[in-house]
Amino acid sequence: MAGEPRNDCLFCKIVAGEIPATIVRETETTVAFRDINPQAPTHVLVIPKAHYENAADLAAGAPDIAADVLRETQTVADEEKLDSYRLVFNTGSGAGQTVWHAHAHVLGGRGLQWPPG
Ligand code: IMP
Repeated sequence: MAGEPRNDCLFCKIVAGEIPATIVRETETTVAFRDINPQAPTHVLVIPKAHYENAADLAAGAPDIAADVLRETQTVADEEKLDSYRLVFNTGSGAGQTVWHAHAHVLGGRGLQWPPG
């Protein structure tokens, strides 16, 4: 069921503390941790603790938590002292989504090209 933890989900396991992660922030509804394969000097993932497959499902099913995730991306950027940064929500395998638990990538600390690949 939407929002419920899934025992086959990597990020639900990070939320539960069953898999280690470098956590940089945690709130009642969100966790932010460093990406294991960073694509920029700062590459932090901000996730809802509740399980939603992607950003669209999160926005539809729990808009308050979606707003919490967005607020946390800004706080991470502030704490990492990023003047410019990019937020990415890969949504669907064609866009590169590989983990089916909604997450915002916060990327910064280097020049970023546009359009992305
Ligand atoms: P996606 O491709 O947008 O779904 O992003 C998934 C991200 O999760 C990728 O950037 C991975 O490097 C990252 N990732 C996968 N496993 C872990 C982990 O155990 N800890 C932290 N990041 C992870």
